[in-house]
Amino acid sequence: MVVGVLVQLSSQNVDRVFDYLVPEHLIPSIKVGVRVLVPFGKQNLEGFILEIKTNSDRELKEIYSILDKDVILNDELLLLGKEIQNTTLSTLISAYQVMLPKALKAKAGVTISKKYQTFYEIKDKEYIPSSLAQRKILELFSETKIISRKVLLEISSSALSTLLEKGVLSEIKEEDYRMKYDIKRDTKKVLTKAQQNVVDSVLNDQRHVPFLLFGVTGSGKTEVYMQIIEKVLKKGKTAIILVPEISLTPQMIEHFSNRFGNQIAALHSALSEGEKYDEWRRIARGEANIVIGARSAIFAPLKNIGIIIMDEEHSDSYKQGDKNPRYHARDIAIWRGKYHSCPVLLGSATPSLESMARARKGVYELVTLQERVNGKMLPEVEIIDMNQESKRSSYHITNTLLKNLNDCIKRGDQAILFLNRRGFSTFVTCKNCSEVIKCPNCDITLTYHKSNKMLRCHYCGYATPLPKECPKCHENSLSDLGVGTEKIEEELHILLPSVKVLRMDVDTTSKKGAHKKMIDAFRNHEYDILLGTQIVAKGLDFSDVTLVGVINADTSLNIPDFRSSENTYSLLSQVAGRSGRSSKTGKVLIQTFNPDHYAISFVKHHDYLGFYNEEMKIRKRLGYPPFYFLCYLKISGKEADYLFQESLKIKRSLERNLQYTTILGPTTLAVFKVNNIYRYGIILKYKKEDMLYDILLKIQNHYKNNHKIKVDIDFNPSHF
Ligand code: ADP
Ligand code: ZN
Repeated sequence: MVVGVLVQLSSQNVDRVFDYLVPEHLIPSIKVGVRVLVPFGKQNLEGFILEIKTNSDRELKEIYSILDKDVILNDELLLLGKEIQNTTLSTLISAYQVMLPKALKAKAGVTISKKYQTFYEIKDKEYIPSSLAQRKILELFSETKIISRKVLLEISSSALSTLLEKGVLSEIKEEDYRMKYDIKRDTKKVLTKAQQNVVDSVLNDQRHVPFLLFGVTGSGKTEVYMQIIEKVLKKGKTAIILVPEISLTPQMIEHFSNRFGNQIAALHSALSEGEKYDEWRRIARGEANIVIGARSAIFAPLKNIGIIIMDEEHSDSYKQGDKNPRYHARDIAIWRGKYHSCPVLLGSATPSLESMARARKGVYELVTLQERVNGKMLPEVEIIDMNQESKRSSYHITNTLLKNLNDCIKRGDQAILFLNRRGFSTFVTCKNCSEVIKCPNCDITLTYHKSNKMLRCHYCGYATPLPKECPKCHENSLSDLGVGTEKIEEELHILLPSVKVLRMDVDTTSKKGAHKKMIDAFRNHEYDILLGTQIVAKGLDFSDVTLVGVINADTSLNIPDFRSSENTYSLLSQVAGRSGRSSKTGKVLIQTFNPDHYAISFVKHHDYLGFYNEEMKIRKRLGYPPFYFLCYLKISGKEADYLFQESLKIKRSLERNLQYTTILGPTTLAVFKVNNIYRYGIILKYKKEDMLYDILLKIQNHYKNNHKIKVDIDFNPSHF
């Protein structure tokens, strides 16, 4: 017997099936979709069996072992991988790897497999090994998070016991899943008529096209999702619900675990690799039938899917843009929906322009929730013109906002203050010579972290203490410009000394579980004001919040990106939606230097469709999505001159071969140099171009053995 194996090496050179002979004793266990260990050149590599063939006349190497008892990539996922390869031009192996938890993407020689009963994970990463065997064991853990007993015993059983005794490693029993979900008493709500209509439309799906649920903030979308899923489960089917990564996941999981208990499995970045692996196995075994998670949860190995829901469908976190495969979870959702003949529901209070345009053309079916549950009003939005107010006070919190905060807290209510950090950083500059301190590796200003007085590069991680004097003019006149949450917190302490402020941002929520603790504390009224960045913008549902203040609405407007207005509109509407969600009326104050910008004035009137129409006119005039498709070529390497010459060649070859495409560039990227790598970009704009994939594949092939240049292709990029 001969099998075709795709090895786990992410190189375009080897991204194809290699044939191996199966030794007699392994033949009964061979299945398509299991992992095997094979000799490959001088090394041993893991790979997936993709084909079973009868025989080959060539002389072949034998596979060493089979790593899985059950299939890892089922028929559906195998097919989906090829679809991803074809539509994103990524390698096939990267398409399969993105579907799996890290524990199954083990490096050569380290195997994790469920046929072993006992695994170990590392608990103490600081531990200094006291013998060679211990060091060997710990080295393995630098590559993968969980390792089977069998592999470690091969190194040294005594070193393993010592590490266990010292608590450096801990044992995981295969059946001992770490994720536990309790059912709390959570009463199913009686749906409003509008909610019931949405549920009925989706469950009686006739047209088999995706549904776009356009529902204002507080219209009860979550309840709609839960009741659809309940019906789907009753039919013996399963469900996927996707949420954007930030902040929303814990809340959604709580809602779902309260109602569905252990039927759910959650996949998101706050889990350890071991937890993710556990959840993945529960799903694969059919022990969980609702999967909740961020982007990559769309690949959950569920069988018999009855509904796929994508909440906050406009979120750019659904697009993987920084590495291959550069896929959008929405496309995968629609593909899987077709495969399972099940409805796909895309939900948002501010749908992406692309989705709304499709809904209007009938490509999607539009369902709407125009009102908040119980007919509560959307909050009143007041725009504060900073051009005027900033003259009156040197604080970032204007007098108007301060007065409203005071009133709100006096009433016994709570407030959320939102600091827009998108495209914004706190940098340090010299007041004497205007020197701005930049990263030595990257072409970007360093960000000042006040808590430890460090300057940090957010691209490469470079960090240095804040210098005493300006490196250029040597005056003692460095100062930090811009404003971070810490600065606003300071202002609040001065302006409202008795008020309790909870600051929530990446710094304060990095510890596991911190996020949920903070949300619970705020809900319990331990604080009056919740101050935060994007993390407080979306999804949170606090009944006593009657004031939302936006400190700086403008930062996201100033980003050089064709989506900056759309992103600003959507972000501000989402933040505004946190106010007045229960019986009390809410208010929103937006501080801005651009009070007349249409993105901001449409937020004032809660007029999504008004914004949509205006923005569509602009997109049409400038030739942007949804009127045109975009494809972005990122060309990177260490030698700037060589790179530029090759970028020009690429451009010329595109020009020769494409007829209906506008080709822009090559231009340097917004950040030209990152980690000493230079980057050029070419943008393609097209409506229909039959030759596009062929020519892009040729370009990829041309450079695949060239180590001096890397060409990444990103279809429908979420930003440049
Ligand atoms: P959205 O996600 O659309 O912003 P939510 O799903 O968070 O809105 O719902 C807003 C609030 O309304 C929540 O507190 C939710 O429990 C409540 N709610 C939803 N549906 C109903 C209903 N049919 N009856 C009463 N309360 C409801
Ligand atoms: Zn850097």
